[in-house]
Amino acid sequence: MQAWAGEVRIQKQSVGFVPTMGALHEGHLSLIREAHKKADKIVVSIFVNPTQFGPHEDFKNYPRTFEKDQKLLIQEKVDVLFYPDAHSMYEEGFQTNIVLTELSKPLCGELRPGHFEGVATVVLKLFNIVKPHFAFFGKKDFQQFLIIEKMVEDLNLDIHVVPCALIRDEDGLALSSRNKRLSEEERKRALVIPRALKMCQEFYQKGIKNVAQLQSKVLEFVDKEGDLNIQYFEIRDAKTLESIEEIQKPTVCAIAAYVGNVRLIDNLLLGEKNDSV
Ligand code: AMP
Repeated sequence: MQAWAGEVRIQKQSVGFVPTMGALHEGHLSLIREAHKKADKIVVSIFVNPTQFGPHEDFKNYPRTFEKDQKLLIQEKVDVLFYPDAHSMYEEGFQTNIVLTELSKPLCGELRPGHFEGVATVVLKLFNIVKPHFAFFGKKDFQQFLIIEKMVEDLNLDIHVVPCALIRDEDGLALSSRNKRLSEEERKRALVIPRALKMCQEFYQKGIKNVAQLQSKVLEFVDKEGDLNIQYFEIRDAKTLESIEEIQKPTVCAIAAYVGNVRLIDNLLLGEKNDSV
């Protein structure tokens, strides 16, 4: 992989990189299409990274659809599919990890200890292997995007991180590989998640800027309508993820919930023209 990337660079062509965990859907494909707009050669990785899953999380049950993914990547004219196995990514004796501070503390970081360190470490390894000029990340995983963007800045990586729009299904549910694990009935229940975000946006557009007020109105709706186990519903500064009392600057509304035993996340940027449910 490194030799190929080195050769492409010698030929003065640019490398665009889309890291994924496979079970590809239109969300992933939208990142690849963005990559084609910016880079000459496109690399997609599929690696279900064991170090970012907690001991009781769904590493074993994570959807794996390699044959189908491979076909999609050929259709999307991807130049390289990088598909390493866990043993070659983490050879015996592996002992180096990225340590993260502020951005990884709240939201998913609080509920999934070690998750973002696992993500940052594997992404840095992948960057060193694929040597991209551009790397594409979906705003579906908003906290992850902020953390990677900060890592690239803090560690002086010569990579342009490109944020890409969150893609939803027609019914509003954010596309996710984990949606494959929902039963029909669970999928219907999951729709409360995008509806809660939409409701938050509507209250905001009507002029409610107070975070506690917005939060209680939305949680009341979720309690009444939903049969979900909400892990968090938070409204935070969209750059720092710090708590806020009043919405003045760009703000993210983020939600995580279990539907059955499937954990889903979603978010909405308040005040951004193109962001809606
Ligand atoms: P994953 O395979 O879930 O690790 O995701 C790989 C990349 O695809 C990450 O940058 C995700 O943020 C992005 N992604 C996943 N789902 C979506 C979506 N619905 N819309 C946009 N990007 C997404």
